[in-house]
Amino acid sequence: MIAINKNFLKLQDSYLFSTVRKKVSEYTKDNPDAKIIKLGIGDVTRPIPKVILDAIKKATDEMGYIETFRGYGPEHGYDFLREKIVKNDYEKMEISVDEIFISDGAKCDTANITELFDQNIKVAISDPVYPVYLDTNVMYGRTGSFQCSTGKYENVIYMEATEKNNFEPKPEDLEEVPDLIYICSPNNPTGIAMSRNTLKKWVEYANYNNCIILYDAAYEAFIEESDVPHSIYEIEGAKNVAIEFKSFSKTAGFTGLRCAYTVVPKECEAVYCDNGKEMRKISINKLWERRCSTKFNGVSYIIQRGAEATYSDEGKEKIKENIEYYKENARIIKNGLQSAGFTVYGGVNAPYVWLKTPNGVKSWDFFDIMLEKYNIVGTPGVGFGPSGEGYFRLTAFGDREKTIEAMKRLVEFR
Ligand SMILES: *Cc1c(COP(=O)(O)O)cnc(C)c1O
Repeated sequence: MIAINKNFLKLQDSYLFSTVRKKVSEYTKDNPDAKIIKLGIGDVTRPIPKVILDAIKKATDEMGYIETFRGYGPEHGYDFLREKIVKNDYEKMEISVDEIFISDGAKCDTANITELFDQNIKVAISDPVYPVYLDTNVMYGRTGSFQCSTGKYENVIYMEATEKNNFEPKPEDLEEVPDLIYICSPNNPTGIAMSRNTLKKWVEYANYNNCIILYDAAYEAFIEESDVPHSIYEIEGAKNVAIEFKSFSKTAGFTGLRCAYTVVPKECEAVYCDNGKEMRKISINKLWERRCSTKFNGVSYIIQRGAEATYSDEGKEKIKENIEYYKENARIIKNGLQSAGFTVYGGVNAPYVWLKTPNGVKSWDFFDIMLEKYNIVGTPGVGFGPSGEGYFRLTAFGDREKTIEAMKRLVEFR
């Protein structure tokens, strides 16, 4: 009889998006004339700029000729792309090419990286946040079971991010010292980016306590405020303690093409105990390199050429136009909600607007109100963690006209 990894049985079914879908389709069945506007989507909608597609087509053609055909590529990515990343994104930070690992997604990498660490380490995760961090740690057996009364797993540190702390968890609020710390900035779902000062505190804390920070910067391209770092390596001492995840998904519309990268500086070391005797240090860069060489065969050449084209002058310009489109949607949503009298957060450095439900209404009850009264679909905040209760996420990835129409309804009928 086969034994399974019982940690999988601890996972809670993610009802979030399936429940949203079910509620919307039931409502549509009863109200076939309702003009529903979906502001719940967490996926990009703008098409890929031509300059990127041209690069992909050219690379595709190369595959048809013996002189330019390519088989397996380097597991960690082609140097033409890694060099562009170093030059454009990390120029002043002295990151080298062999510290950049090209992958097929920040989702996969933030999930897979947990493999490098012992099962018994203590993990601290922002709450609310992208659910991948928590669920992968459940799978690896780092958590206890799920407690219905609190909405939390045992043996995980939930770093609350609410109105009370301006949605910025701080190290001084920790009741115990974690080993691994997950920070998502700009944050999905709150849309709040961590300030330089707070990030500095985290880097100092991690250096002092020998922690490692996993820094998910998938929405970095949306940052506009000057006191928000674009990379954790802008902070002194971060290279010793931080791994950074970036993606072409939200930046360049690659959610369907798949390309991302992870930065693991050579200075980043973990301290471990050798047979209960001596304390030793080991390079995380070496471990990650070994892990990827064994389990990964690289991102397709064609897509890496597409990612390279995002760094051309025209590529940069077109991507910026798409991001500006989403950011204008975010401004429209934020202003609209404020005019309608709601308390709103985020939407400045991120494509997400996080609204506080009025009078302490529960997230799911507010979902029903939005659907039935205004025919607007959003995402209940509690779906991203227990501290998301009483909040609601609207996204800026939708169509401009529909976004404007949605806000008009809210302002007129509230
Ligand atoms: C969308 C998203 C990603 C991107 O994942 P990919 O696998 O690169 O598409 C990563 N982190 C967060 C928080 C996200 O919302």
